[in-house]
Amino acid sequence: MNGLHHGQTGEEKRLSQLRTDLEELPRRPGVYLMKDASGAVLYVGKAEDLRARVRQYFQRSEKGDGRFHVAFLVPRIQDVEVIVTTSPREALILEDTLIKKHQPRYNVRLKDDKSWLSMRLDPKEKWPRPTLVRRWKDDGARYFGPYLDELNSRKVQRLLSRTVPLRTCSDAVFRAHSERPCIEHQMGRCAAPCVGYINRVEYAKLVDEAVLLLEGRTRTLQGRLKERMEAASAELRYEDAGRIRDNIRLLQRLGERQSAQVPGLSDRDVFGLHREGQLAAVTILPIREGRMQDVRAFDFRSALEEDDEFLGRLIAQIYSPTVPAPGEILVPCAIDDSKGRAELLSEVAGRRVRIVQPRRGAGKRLIDIARENAQVRFRAAHSRAERAEQALFGIQRALHMDRLPRRIECYDNSNIQGSDPVGAMVTFKDGVPWKKGYRTFQIKGVSGPDDYATMKEVLLRRLKRSTSDDPAWALPELILIDGGRGQLAQVVAVCHEIGLALHRSDAEAPTAGVHLAAIAKPRPGEPTDKVYQPGRANPVALRARNPGLHLLQQLRDEAHRFAVRYHRKRRTKRTLSSELDSIPGVGPATRKRLLRHFGSIQRIRAASLTDLGQVQGVGPRTAEAIQRSLATGS
Ligand code: SF4
Repeated sequence: MNGLHHGQTGEEKRLSQLRTDLEELPRRPGVYLMKDASGAVLYVGKAEDLRARVRQYFQRSEKGDGRFHVAFLVPRIQDVEVIVTTSPREALILEDTLIKKHQPRYNVRLKDDKSWLSMRLDPKEKWPRPTLVRRWKDDGARYFGPYLDELNSRKVQRLLSRTVPLRTCSDAVFRAHSERPCIEHQMGRCAAPCVGYINRVEYAKLVDEAVLLLEGRTRTLQGRLKERMEAASAELRYEDAGRIRDNIRLLQRLGERQSAQVPGLSDRDVFGLHREGQLAAVTILPIREGRMQDVRAFDFRSALEEDDEFLGRLIAQIYSPTVPAPGEILVPCAIDDSKGRAELLSEVAGRRVRIVQPRRGAGKRLIDIARENAQVRFRAAHSRAERAEQALFGIQRALHMDRLPRRIECYDNSNIQGSDPVGAMVTFKDGVPWKKGYRTFQIKGVSGPDDYATMKEVLLRRLKRSTSDDPAWALPELILIDGGRGQLAQVVAVCHEIGLALHRSDAEAPTAGVHLAAIAKPRPGEPTDKVYQPGRANPVALRARNPGLHLLQQLRDEAHRFAVRYHRKRRTKRTLSSELDSIPGVGPATRKRLLRHFGSIQRIRAASLTDLGQVQGVGPRTAEAIQRSLATGS
């Protein structure tokens, strides 16, 4: 075991000391534990080459190697401890054990899941009973679910109590009925172990049937129930036999109605993942005996690892000796060390388990269904405000802002070959549109199609208003413009002209002030939009999965829509005005009234003389002149 310890003498010294110490790490497989100043384990990872792997965290910058969780992790690391193992496989096992033991904050943890209900059944209890619970514990019990919603979980509970007569009472109620069973028995829903109407061997068979039902193996269960029905009939327990027959029919009907058939497919679990920043939802579609069962779902509020590590470690936590993995696990992306993980799952399950990433065919279609379900679960589990917060956080990190961009303004221009140029400003507060902060600008000082000059005029007029008391003109944390370096330079010039302090993100001399950025569409071959900032030579390419990128795109699109709408409105008004201009008897006031009354030139053209006469200032002669003029187009 290696330990790297340091005194706390400033951020730079800490990082540089850590980097030096990392050079001493062995180039061997093993596990590393990253710890904070209090010694708490923040993160556990495994590596085939410990030195190379741990160095990655500190290589490119203080913000880490680009992986999502690294930016959160690196500033908090005070100590790195490594444990050398004899093989990568041993490292994988040790990593799982240490994650379970330390529950590190930056590793995915199943217990963080704010899941809805799961069914718990512990076959080791003397008289097991199924209960709905919200948390999975490492207690040797079997857990089924979590179900997609509360309704589904209650449905499963009802079906179970109707088909398998296990006790549902608490231990206290169980003891209190040692002489007489409760009404559950009279209703045929409990075999009444409390009074010894069933022995433990027979009760254990019922527990097996419950497991079959909860696993979705309803065909096998129907076979078992048939055997029980025949035995009851042979023993002349016709009432019991009739009840079991009804249950078999119920299962048959449910099977036909509820589960989609997936012919030719063996037992498998299909994973779907949807995430935005640290928020994530994972769904599992279990397929058993050729039928798709109810979707299971988990959601997470601090999913920091990359998708491959996140899903790999989640799979390791979901399956256990009591929840063995099915023969195949379909995943939406490559999984960290999928071969090693599949081997471990195979050992635990006692049969071969494969982890597969299907790229086409039936498997791919199942993955798409699982992903869609994950999206649905995501929206249900994480509020709009929570998602918006993630997006703001994503922007703050990507643009190195000194605060969250709670208020963002975005600008765009619109004109057609220089005619009727307009500018538009839209404002988002806390990540959502704030219509009170929308403004349009009719461009006065620019002739011809000059995007730069238009942008300059808009920003100049807007920023001069920032001293006003009107909250709609208060300065935002971030000004975003649709464009590239050229447009950005214009806005920087405007800020200098009016003496507005800008935040410079240059590492050497960061200064306080308004943050400025320009978002430009990617060129062919580039993965995502680029964001330019003053003082930064290269644009920032936000990762496609950064929710901040989606928010910036949304702002850009909204500004574009608003600018185009305003431009159209102005153009239509001008066209209408010019058509009405030349009609004798129609002055500016009448023209305005006509436009207000009819709304469009088509409607004025279609209007009868009586309709036209209803507009103030339009007499019979003017109405005739309007009709004549618009009919000939003269
Ligand atoms: S019959 Fe007995 S064991 Fe069954 S639910 Fe009632 S009290 Fe519990």
